[in-house]
Amino acid sequence: MKNILILIISLLTSLTIAIALYLNEFTVLSQGRMAWLHKDREVSSRLLSIPILLYHNIDGKGPFSIDVGSLREHFQLIKDRGIRVIPLRELVQRLERPAPYEDAVIVITFDDGYGSMYTKLLPLAREFGYPVTLFVYCDIISMKSSRNLTWDRLRRMNRQGIDIQAHSISHPDLTEISKKDDPASRKRLYEEIYLCKKMLELYLDRKIDFYAFPFGRYDLSIVDMTMNAGYRRAFSTDYGSNIITRDNFCLRRHHIKSNYSLHYIEHLIR
Ligand SMILES: [Zn+2]
Repeated sequence: MKNILILIISLLTSLTIAIALYLNEFTVLSQGRMAWLHKDREVSSRLLSIPILLYHNIDGKGPFSIDVGSLREHFQLIKDRGIRVIPLRELVQRLERPAPYEDAVIVITFDDGYGSMYTKLLPLAREFGYPVTLFVYCDIISMKSSRNLTWDRLRRMNRQGIDIQAHSISHPDLTEISKKDDPASRKRLYEEIYLCKKMLELYLDRKIDFYAFPFGRYDLSIVDMTMNAGYRRAFSTDYGSNIITRDNFCLRRHHIKSNYSLHYIEHLIR
């Protein structure tokens, strides 16, 4: 009789625990969190893992300059695979308030400030409707060389929806300048990081939120100064995608080289 009583009690306890677990899962489901976990496990981590592509010049001269025909092929491939190009700003907002994407998305960026950005990229980005970001360094714009952008063209691109962001004043390797407790080093870093933001904000009459490290190189004190200067995020050339459930300050970018096959580009974006 005593054994039967113990059996009944343990059965009732198990039933209570099962009901409690079910109700808890229902609550979590109603908050959308279980849906997130379910999506993460079963659909694809690609919805949480966002690649940022990084290009430089598009005149087809050199290892980091693809020709505009190849860029068109990349843009077309992204479209054919149903991958949505989102503004860099939208990715950063998603990092700050993580939520899963319903479709595969990608971000496209260009560095430095070559003349081809105005003559070739601007019409192509408009044709495809892609919201690209251009990180410029101030000296290249001030050089007055036909190979580079001018302030006038940069302002026109800004007005036509190209997102312009900061990439230093003179494009040095910041890790070579960075010396602890050296006032000259701090002053130089201050110019390359703070002054660059202020100059672009003055010339473009808008807020600059993002910084791309020249040559993708940085150390902890550089990251610290970038944060203190008021940038919301900084961008390296470390390979890999960005997981939106991990809110990193430094984001990675896939640096596209001119010898990459279309097959390899497909591997990077899918
Ligand atoms: Zn650069």
